[in-house]
Formats: sequence, structure tokens, C-alpha cells
Amino acid sequence: MKIKVALLVLMVILVGGGVTSYIVEFSSKEPVVSAVSQTPSPTPTPTPSPTPIQLLCFSESTKALRSSDLESGCLDGEQSLGAYRIDRPADRPTDLNPILLTRFLAAQAAAKKAGFPLHITSGYRSYALQERLFRNAVERYGSEAEASKWVLPADVSHHPWGLALDINYPNDPVSTKWLEVNGYTYGLCRAYENEWWHFEGLSAPGEQCPAMLPDASTTTTD
Ligand SMILES: [Zn+2]
Repeated sequence: MKIKVALLVLMVILVGGGVTSYIVEFSSKEPVVSAVSQTPSPTPTPTPSPTPIQLLCFSESTKALRSSDLESGCLDGEQSLGAYRIDRPADRPTDLNPILLTRFLAAQAAAKKAGFPLHITSGYRSYALQERLFRNAVERYGSEAEASKWVLPADVSHHPWGLALDINYPNDPVSTKWLEVNGYTYGLCRAYENEWWHFEGLSAPGEQCPAMLPDASTTTTD
């Protein structure tokens, strides 16, 4: 009996071992075959051609506005209108932002052709002047909160940063309306509902302007 059992166990081990080795052999060949059949052929990855970023160039001497792109830039004698909204610079400037000025000059030329004269009544203001205007406004309106709806303190106003233009103030809201409607083409946007004269470079030229804020006091937090 014991011998028969021992033989049986031996046979199971042998057969089982054989089967196992067959499986190992079979499966070990599998990857070799599949690796050969799947020789990696380099798939060309299509490189997406980036859409060129639009750039407008203005010639002050000829008053011509020309369409270019950011990579090509502007030609000698032309000034760029910039391809983005105009943000606050790192340091306090001593004059109007040059791109904002170019945007205005380009818009002014187009407005003139359409019969609407535009001029800057106030652009860059020194910190001291802005502070003086604010103190005067506080006296006039009775409180800092009320004054801030019209004149901002020097540390938050965009005029000392060279980023704001008051146009045709206080006499010609009709011509200035042209700029409110068409200014986005040049990246000029009316900023406040209560100031028809105050414009900033709040969008890229050709892009829609952001919604107007109720008044200047809304910007004191940024
Ligand atoms: Zn202003």
C-alpha cells in the first residue's frame, strides 16, 4: 500500500512538474514573440502650430495702424499697442505708461477721422498731486469714503501708476462716448460707471473690455 501511494505521489509530482515547466516555458516564450511583432515604430507626434498672438503697431508720423503678431513685432518708427492688458509695473513710474499712450494715440487718430476729437485732460499724476487732489475731495465730499468714489488716495489711484487716462473731462462726454464704444479695439476701456472720462488699458487690444465697476472706490482693495 505504502509503495503504491508513494508511486502515485511521485507521478503527481513528475506530471505536475512537467505541466508547470511547460507553462513556464510557454509563457516565457510569449513575451519574446509579442515583443518581436510589436517592434516599436516611431509614431510621429504632430506638433500643434501655435496661434500667433495678435499685435497692433501704430505709426505716430503716418497715423497708420498695422496688424502684426507678437513674434514679428513692430517695425522701426512704429509703436506697439501691446498684446495684453496693461498691469501695474514693479516700480513707481514718472510718466504715463508708454503703451497706454500709444493706445490712446491710435484711438485718437481713428476718432478724429470719425469726427470725434479726443484729448487727455489728465494722465500721469505724481503721488503728491494725487494726495492733494484726494485731500481736496475729502473736504468737498465730506468723508474719505465719499471722496474715494471720485478721487482715490495716492497709494491706490491708477493715475500715479501711469495706468489711467481722463479723456475730454469735463466738457465733452459725446466724443468720449466714441472711445467707450470703440476703445476695446485699441485696448482702452472705460473703468467706472460714474466716470465717463476715465479709461485704462484693461484688456488686450481687440478683446472685450471687462464690465465696468460702479465707482473708483471699488478698486481700493486691489
Ligand atoms: Zn481718472
